[in-house]
Amino acid sequence: MNSDKLSKRLETVTKYIPEGARLADIGSDHAYLPCYMVQKGGIPFAIAGEVVEGPYRSAKSHVEELGLTKKISVRKGDGLAVIQPGEVDAITIAGMGGSLIASILEQGKSKLAGVKRLILQPNISAISIREWLLDNGWGLIAEEILEEDGKIYEILVAEQGNERVAYGDNLEKGLLLGPYLLQEKNSAFQKKWSMELATWNKILTQLKQASTSAENEKKKHELLKKIQLVEEILSK
Ligand code: SAM
Repeated sequence: MNSDKLSKRLETVTKYIPEGARLADIGSDHAYLPCYMVQKGGIPFAIAGEVVEGPYRSAKSHVEELGLTKKISVRKGDGLAVIQPGEVDAITIAGMGGSLIASILEQGKSKLAGVKRLILQPNISAISIREWLLDNGWGLIAEEILEEDGKIYEILVAEQGNERVAYGDNLEKGLLLGPYLLQEKNSAFQKKWSMELATWNKILTQLKQASTSAENEKKKHELLKKIQLVEEILSK
């Protein structure tokens, strides 16, 4: 992969970056995404943020090789610490776990005041992000789920305000499965949740065989609730 041709996953993320936005890509690794966007002419300026030295250096040399140093500022730092308040309109955070993405947003809250759009791509636990968005006044405006090289990825797009609107009366289901994704139920969605169901059923069998304790009973109850909820969605 390089910045001429992005993976299907990252290309889908870029679809949601508003034309002309000033972008921060956090956890940018080689800075493929900001380089692609700037080269395409879609955005005038980007920050590529990295906390780890190796990926930070890769991002810096990639931006230099492409002659993009005037338009892409590569910065080393933790999460949103690399941006100044009001410096960007849109933020992408891709290729990490949902709880890490949520904790980056939580720790960087003070930088989000002027940001219009968040485009987040968790590899697991999208629910952690949906819960953070809901608790912090960000409404989901779109979601995607796709399969690439045998892996399934979710993409969540949010803007400030209307945080409950997308969920309607289905908050619990929506937080777990995605309010837009569960309306569409495409093949990647069906595959992801069938696999989760199989895993949960295995864990449930193990819990049933284990000695009964209050903690086990609680786990079984929670698991059963999730299994029933997902089975109902997949059967419709
Ligand atoms: N965003 C790219 C993508 O989606 O292909 C790279 C994903 S890579 C798997 C995750 C990157 O996030 C790593 O380079 C890691 O160093 C960086 N990262 C992890 N935690 C971070 C944090 N708190 N702040 C900035 N970067 C972080």
